Amino acid sequence: MDYVYGPGRNHLFVPGPVNIPEPVLRAMNRNNEDYRSPAVPAMTKTLLEDVKKIFKTTSGTPFMIPTTGTGAWESALTNTLSPGDRIVSFLIGQFSLLWIDQQQRLKFNVDVVESEWGQGANLDVLESKIAEDTAHTIKAICIVHNETATGVTNNLAKVRKILGRATEYLQTSVNLSHIFFLSLDTYFSYSSVTFMECFSCFFIELSDNYMHPALFLVDGVSSICALDFRMDEWGVDVALTGSQKALSLPTGIGIVCASPKALEASKSAKSVRVFFDWNDYLKFYKLGTYWPYTPSIQLLYGLRTALDLLFEEGLDNVIARHSRLGKATRLAVEAWGLKNCTQSEEWVSDTVTAVLVPTYIDSTEIVKRAWKRYNLSLGLGLNKIAGKVFRIGHLGNLNELQLLGCLAGVEMVLKDVGYPVKLGSGVAAASAYFQNNTPLIPSRI
Ligand code: PLP
Repeated sequence: MDYVYGPGRNHLFVPGPVNIPEPVLRAMNRNNEDYRSPAVPAMTKTLLEDVKKIFKTTSGTPFMIPTTGTGAWESALTNTLSPGDRIVSFLIGQFSLLWIDQQQRLKFNVDVVESEWGQGANLDVLESKIAEDTAHTIKAICIVHNETATGVTNNLAKVRKILGRATEYLQTSVNLSHIFFLSLDTYFSYSSVTFMECFSCFFIELSDNYMHPALFLVDGVSSICALDFRMDEWGVDVALTGSQKALSLPTGIGIVCASPKALEASKSAKSVRVFFDWNDYLKFYKLGTYWPYTPSIQLLYGLRTALDLLFEEGLDNVIARHSRLGKATRLAVEAWGLKNCTQSEEWVSDTVTAVLVPTYIDSTEIVKRAWKRYNLSLGLGLNKIAGKVFRIGHLGNLNELQLLGCLAGVEMVLKDVGYPVKLGSGVAAASAYFQNNTPLIPSRI
């Protein structure tokens, strides 16, 4: 036996790796096969088309790399930047810290913007750096959308607003001049929708703050497929995620999606890269065989099913479900008289809640006891906040009643470690919210 048995199902509430749905487990339970036969490329083609939907992009190019989130970070950085490039990176918790460490080890010139853990990225500092950088020395902005260590979600639309849209701006101007210089006949043959789109677009661009060309690189590891994420609309240049988070698969696929601007940057980026080189993938995409090296076959079948399940539920419904799970968890925390590590409502995360415990309690004890006594797996506090918070992951293939089981478990453990919680208080707050807000299951209507 290679694990410590506990009766019943383990209540897995760490913020990744998360529960794998039964249909995905079954889809992966298969033999190896020849990835050069027509079957694997045919399936890969559908996957490449479909993963674009989870990033909300039509213009992006995805790469499904046999790696983890950390490898996906490296792929994003080394394909788009050169050693010595100045990048602005936000330190708000353990995962942004690890990404910054990687950026420094890859020899970029990292301009770190630090916030207290529990706060979001300081976008006022970004704005002043961008305003001062008229020479465009900043080559990239790196930001973790959802900091899994603290349960903080950053506002990506605001980052894009600060940067402005240098390339789209030019494109829009070209479109407009086209329209103005058209002969009257041709002018009227344009649909008014196209004209209005260009026109409103023009005003949106002008209202953006700066026309800064820095690349916008986003870690969406604990957000994509769970939180609202709009690669094209927010002008994200590289977005990435890992299979063991909201996709609800085993660890092992890092999905990286590159905008046309990022692909262009990769042509001149001088960072050394071999395993992660996008160019190797692109060569095989052209050939229609797709793989520069052996793919994780079983994971690809799992990904096919995971995407099918997400699309069957509907991505908007998936996001709404996470929003309910997040809200219910926060209501429970409030009912217990505890505080969320996230310091303001504007940053609360719908995929993970880090709960602050009173100073006389060691949160590590809570996590240990939850597993030992109730077969409940909670997330530890990491680094600076070790012992001070425990984390409830509420992402991936998870429903309301499963979360109530977790909340009931947390209440019992809190009582075990000497916190005077009223049993049932958090569960009551969460279930009252669910009872009022849970819609019918989309596929069962
Ligand atoms: N980024 C975030 C936001 C994470 O939460 C994690 C892991 O939890 C990572 C990156 C690193 O991913 P991995 O452990 O798959 O390398």
